[in-house]
Amino acid sequence: TSAASTARTARSSELFARARTVTPGGVNSPVRAFDAVGGTPRFIRSARGAWLTDVDGNDYVDLICSWGPMLLGHAHPEVQRAVTEAVSRGTSYGTPTVPEVELASEIVARTPVERVRFTSSGTEATMSAIRLARGFTGRDVVVKFAGCYHGHVDSLLAAAGSGLATFGNPNAGPSTPGVPSSSTDLTLVLPYNDTAAVAAAFAEHGDRIACLVTEAAAGNMGVVPPDPGFNRFLAETCARHGALFVSDEVMTGFRASRQGQWGLDGAVEGWAPDLMTFGKVMGGGFPAAAFGGRADVMAHLSPEGSVYQAGTLSGNPVATTAGLATLRLATDEVYAHLTAAGETIKEAAADALTAAGVPHAVQSTGTMFSVFFTEGPVRDFAGASGQDVAAYAAFFHAMLDAGVHLPPSAYEGWFLSAAHDDRAVQTVLDALPAAARAAASQ
Ligand code: PMP
Repeated sequence: TSAASTARTARSSELFARARTVTPGGVNSPVRAFDAVGGTPRFIRSARGAWLTDVDGNDYVDLICSWGPMLLGHAHPEVQRAVTEAVSRGTSYGTPTVPEVELASEIVARTPVERVRFTSSGTEATMSAIRLARGFTGRDVVVKFAGCYHGHVDSLLAAAGSGLATFGNPNAGPSTPGVPSSSTDLTLVLPYNDTAAVAAAFAEHGDRIACLVTEAAAGNMGVVPPDPGFNRFLAETCARHGALFVSDEVMTGFRASRQGQWGLDGAVEGWAPDLMTFGKVMGGGFPAAAFGGRADVMAHLSPEGSVYQAGTLSGNPVATTAGLATLRLATDEVYAHLTAAGETIKEAAADALTAAGVPHAVQSTGTMFSVFFTEGPVRDFAGASGQDVAAYAAFFHAMLDAGVHLPPSAYEGWFLSAAHDDRAVQTVLDALPAAARAAASQ
């Protein structure tokens, strides 16, 4: 718990108490609560660059970055300018607009997808991709991996990661009450990075499988990269059985690299997913997400085809303007900076935890990384589940007291931005040794 906290939290505490009287748990998404680490969530008043400022006037280096989207840092002046200009022209018309076409073109240019459709959340994107895969193939079964999270889609809330890893039911079947087993009966859940399990599932059910959906690199149980060749194996296995390969890049897209996780494997090895999902970075901090893929598959979507999918705010002009400005500013230099800052923090975290005698594993894919409080490397959900969450809670609060805001759960990546400059990185480095000792004494 935060009993030892020296931070001023009077106003956050007051707001949190009030929030709980009007919103379940006081938060609008479970991972924002501090239930896993104890204490009072900080209510953030403003953010600029790498820094968050809470309602009590405390500043924190932000290692959440809105759970991925803020690739350029907060309140980037050029993104702000584009958004302000867009808002001055009105905020939503329910008609086609210019920025939708431009953002779709930017996504087509950076990834293997040929057609894109926008949604307002990653959840809708994966939900729609699965409906399209089922409509296209005329099959019903969906394969997913334990510990992967694809949004709160009923059929995918089986052995799901993210907040479900922290709060949910880790067994097979629905991860949460409210999802009937009929919704997950058609979902096959396999261990991540297990090619034998994939081969066996396709050997037995191949002609019933509409699609296999995977995080392009797992990022919702902490960062667990695909073994070399794993994604290629998935693509080939799906192709052999007439199933679609759906690569969820909501988290990795335009973050793991300029071309997402696909830029690190598919682009190098010469294969492409049939469908992909995107979100987070491509919305520039606004509610925007997308799914896309092969032109012949996407042609099955309404109104061109018969698979229905829609959204009042889909492709919203302000959100797509923010996403477009963000992607245009996300140059090779940005990714080089994320790599360098990430290396510095990963090395310092490993050194501090080693010096304090805290078992840990630092894992990454491209510019994405996380720190596991485990004895050794993590390859799947079973490995991630063995974390010392009490040690993480102590570590988290010591970092928070020293002005660094980590994700309030051991099952999440640490996110950086282009605005994490020397001062921000140094603040993290200065905080690590005492936090590691706090974890050790837990
Ligand atoms: N897929 C992945 C890989 C994600 O990380 C997330 C969100 N963390 C989602 C889907 C769902 O996106 P949203 O929260 O926008 O619904």
